Amino acid sequence: MPDAPDGPEALDPTGLRPGLPSPLCPVADGRFARHGVRLLLKRDDLIHPELIGNKWRKLAPNLRAAAGRTLLTFGGAYSNHLRATAAAGRLLGLPTIGVVRGDELAHRPLNPSLARCAADGMRLHFIDRSTYRRKTEPRTLAAILCAADARDAYVVPEGGSNALAVRGCQELGAELRGHADVVALACGTGGTLAGLAAGLAPGQRALGVPVLKGGFLDAEVRALQDSAFGGRRGTWSLDDRFHFGGYARATPELDLFAEDFEQRHGLPVERLYVAKMLYGLVALAEEGAFAPGTTVAAVITGAPLA
Ligand SMILES: *Cc1c(COP(=O)(O)O)cnc(C)c1O
Repeated sequence: MPDAPDGPEALDPTGLRPGLPSPLCPVADGRFARHGVRLLLKRDDLIHPELIGNKWRKLAPNLRAAAGRTLLTFGGAYSNHLRATAAAGRLLGLPTIGVVRGDELAHRPLNPSLARCAADGMRLHFIDRSTYRRKTEPRTLAAILCAADARDAYVVPEGGSNALAVRGCQELGAELRGHADVVALACGTGGTLAGLAAGLAPGQRALGVPVLKGGFLDAEVRALQDSAFGGRRGTWSLDDRFHFGGYARATPELDLFAEDFEQRHGLPVERLYVAKMLYGLVALAEEGAFAPGTTVAAVITGAPLA
């Protein structure tokens, strides 16, 4: 039997129908234009109403590899990745299990994000924080799978970033070939950046804005590229100045910035990731970090949750 086609189109018969390639839209913004810089928005938030942005790009190859097995993955109580996985499970009729960081009692009643996961049919399995930290150790993982009654499950790591996911994100870079000099995106695990950079053409560079504090991401992206491609690919760098104190942290200044961006451009700005990346890009433009004539594409990796 011939292999099914690679990539998201392999899922089309199931009815998911991603909108790919996602639109690339020029926007007029004086904070860039003043420095001779052109700004484009890569609207990955429009790929699918529920499997949004890079979550689609990372999940699609894993859904295919799961081949109908229960898909188990990990996340915090507000994880976009858990939400997307649960939605994919509902849409594809695939059983999903979400292993959630923190004791069950602390999470009841469920917050809106976890409630939505449960409504989509995801079975939630709560584990204490110290076990959660050790979840990638083989013995701990085996114990978690056993306790969750999921020994045969297809396991996707936290944030969805494994080698298949990274390779899936190459397509994002390929869609941007010939369209921009610099491609900026917000990073959590760095999986999207690792794939994007590999998909760009020579001469293009990717710029990652970590939303977590700690400066560990450079090593993570290298490791992800090693596992997906066997070595470093493409030109990429990180700017660690725009995490605002860490994941889900914000300041009144960031909130005002995001509201203003929404009003200027009619774009709903997702706050955990996208707002920080856009803020960083404006700051860089105003510092003169981009030479006149540069075209910058900002990847809109997600949308505010409904
Ligand atoms: C998950 C997520 C990211 C981070 O992607 P990584 O591949 O983990 O770096 C960025 N933006 C949005 C909106 C996300 O939901």
